[in-house]
Amino acid sequence: MSDILRVQGLEAKQGEKVQGYLEIAERPAGKHRIPVMLINGTGSGPTVVINGGEHGSEYNGPAGALELMKTIKPGDIDGKVIIVPMVNTLAFETRWMHGNPIDYRDLTGYYVPEIPRGGSGPPKITYYVTTTFYKEVLSQGDYRINLHGGDIEEDLLTGTMYRQTGDAKKDKLNLELCRAFGWEWIRESLPRKTSNPMKFPLTVGTEAGGMGRCQSDIVSEVVRGCRNVLMQLDLMEGEPVIPPKAKVYHPYHLYAEHGGFFISNVRSGDMVTEGQVLGVIKDLFGETLEEIVVPTDGVIHMVTSPAIWQGDVVYEIGKDIREVS
Ligand SMILES: [Zn+2]
Repeated sequence: MSDILRVQGLEAKQGEKVQGYLEIAERPAGKHRIPVMLINGTGSGPTVVINGGEHGSEYNGPAGALELMKTIKPGDIDGKVIIVPMVNTLAFETRWMHGNPIDYRDLTGYYVPEIPRGGSGPPKITYYVTTTFYKEVLSQGDYRINLHGGDIEEDLLTGTMYRQTGDAKKDKLNLELCRAFGWEWIRESLPRKTSNPMKFPLTVGTEAGGMGRCQSDIVSEVVRGCRNVLMQLDLMEGEPVIPPKAKVYHPYHLYAEHGGFFISNVRSGDMVTEGQVLGVIKDLFGETLEEIVVPTDGVIHMVTSPAIWQGDVVYEIGKDIREVS
């Protein structure tokens, strides 16, 4: 492995920290580029990518990344760290939920090997962001911390998350890294069949706060968690100090049968029991259209906007809760 850390034209030699821009694409009126920092430590440890803002209006993770950019010194690191605090700057600038107002695409669904060509319609800026970010940054990572949170309309349970692959060794390590981050709740998704040939780094996802706010106490926890993961991977000295136990759950969604005005009886983090009425959807004359009843015991992972369209997700629930130590 090369001693030099390179992202496009940026280069950090061992012991150097370099900041600059990841050049994404050309817009009609100029360039689209996003900030990136390279921290090349001493030693030959792995490469960790820390990114925030795939959804640009989820703020606590990116704010944590900004602090890490200022405080991590190359001398602290055995390996390499690449930080991209805000991948989806289009959403950040416009306070846009999930996607962006240029092409409406949600980055998380558009990591593809090649940008499709042809056809009229909206620009393909999301494809340029994902493919450039993947090619220049993610493909270099052995590990990734992917900082998310509840978006502007989401009341969301703070915790870490990962998706199982079916490879027991990999999945065990991934759960350990989620544990090391240090939060009480871990959202565990089951393996998904995919035909996408792209290889992604082993990823710890985070969900930190939500509802369009950025709060310094949550930001501090993000920073501590990222440092914990770097310690767990031996990129940083020290042992992560974490609670003795955490709780793991499997997520599922509850959907609205009717559009209307949604009023919730519960918040993220509330424990619920089978048969409990979680909320109600009314029409704009005040008539109740439906009650949302939870089919399993669980924890509320997400509560969404009061403005509900037929078929929307109203809640995400965590079930099959188990304790891990
Ligand atoms: Zn997100």
